[in-house]
Amino acid sequence: MTMTGCVFCRIVAKEIPSTVVNETEQTIVVKDINPQAPTHLLVIPRAHYSTLLDCGDDALLAEMMATARDTAQKLGIGKSGFRLVVNTNEGGGQTVFHLHMHLLGGRALAGRMG
Ligand code: AMP
Ligand code: ZN
Repeated sequence: MTMTGCVFCRIVAKEIPSTVVNETEQTIVVKDINPQAPTHLLVIPRAHYSTLLDCGDDALLAEMMATARDTAQKLGIGKSGFRLVVNTNEGGGQTVFHLHMHLLGGRALAGRMG
């Protein structure tokens, strides 16, 4: 289920370089190339779904969230706090149309959402 030309499919396939911080059966966790916080990671499913709305695999969605949680704990930002974000469609700020979850932390995040 690889989409030709999809940057995250290429990251999953290790065709383009990324800094991998965690891997699970169905996901890969990499550093965002343009970090918005000291810790800014992307939990990327290995399978290609364009948006959250296109993913009917609820077990995968659970694995993504559990992976984000475990990664935050592992990096020691659990207690200080972090935020998970899934931008969906252009109005939601999505720019890469391969489902992914942002994990942001390492500093106090603003109270407002966006
Ligand atoms: P979104 O706006 O939710 O679609 O987020 C896409 C994110 O992917 C942005 O934060 C980008 O900085 C990030 N990004 C784009 N290309 C790469 C790449 N090659 N490696 C790591 N992160 C990337
Ligand atoms: Zn893809």
